[in-house]
Amino acid sequence: MSENWFEEISFKGQMKQGYKVSRHLHKEQSKYQTIEVLETEAVGKLLLLDGKTMVSEADEFVYHEVMAHIPYMVCPKVERVLIIGGGDGGVVREFTRHKDIKEIQLVEIDERVIEVSKQFFPECTSGLSDSRVKILPQDGIQYVKDCKANGEKFDIIIVDSTDPEDFAAGLFTQEFYGNINDILTDHGIMMNQTENPFYDEYGLKSIYQNLKDSFKNVQSFNAPMIIYPGVFWTFGFSSKSTNALDLIESKIDSMREIQKTLKWYNMDWHKGAFALSNYQRAKLGL
Ligand code: SAM
Repeated sequence: MSENWFEEISFKGQMKQGYKVSRHLHKEQSKYQTIEVLETEAVGKLLLLDGKTMVSEADEFVYHEVMAHIPYMVCPKVERVLIIGGGDGGVVREFTRHKDIKEIQLVEIDERVIEVSKQFFPECTSGLSDSRVKILPQDGIQYVKDCKANGEKFDIIIVDSTDPEDFAAGLFTQEFYGNINDILTDHGIMMNQTENPFYDEYGLKSIYQNLKDSFKNVQSFNAPMIIYPGVFWTFGFSSKSTNALDLIESKIDSMREIQKTLKWYNMDWHKGAFALSNYQRAKLGL
């Protein structure tokens, strides 16, 4: 690869997606991964973990807004939120817009990701200073087990992780999802990113089977992630009973105001996003 191009090789080495690099802003090896920040012409600043695209200035709002506002709008009471991964802070930022939420826990295994994000993506980490936010530099897999043992419950749990490899692989298993289900309140919701069905590197059907084996209700939607390989990205919405399309009447007026300041999410888009094509139904087994 030439000095002024970054190329992400994915899908068993069969695909490349790249960006012209204006400057290499940061590179370090943390306890867990290689953390890099590039300045690019196409998508602005770009965060890489182990050479994989994670966050860019150009499209971070899509992922972070849908992960937070979809579950918030259909969950009748949101007091406690747990985010696993999410070290860039973007999902936390979106939840802090809702003043009725009492506590937001961020369980990120690699605190260097948080520190690098503070330095290079302050627009993402702006919510981390909110008094309701608790940052816990821990392994989310073990943390969920501990919460289950202590009888802790959350209304919304976001699994905002890297791909199902290495220390993140355990975040896609039936055991983990079963533990998540056990620490959700009766109206609780879990959201997770579930990769690209067209290249299906990680076996989407088995990930959704794990979800269906662990939660009574499993739905899926997609949103474009221009920096992820193949752009077409799917997300899971899993719950004991809450339906992804039942917007809570009492929240609509305040969301009407909030969504004026958002770059992607609005309630009309929310209602359309869960309509699955034949292709997605077949690939996800939904
Ligand atoms: N929002 C972007 C996205 O959609 O990909 C970026 C996600 S965030 C940067 C992914 C985070 O998951 C990384 O910071 C990584 O350290 C964290 N992570 C991976 N496995 C984890 C685990 N077992 N427990 C806690 N955090 C984990």
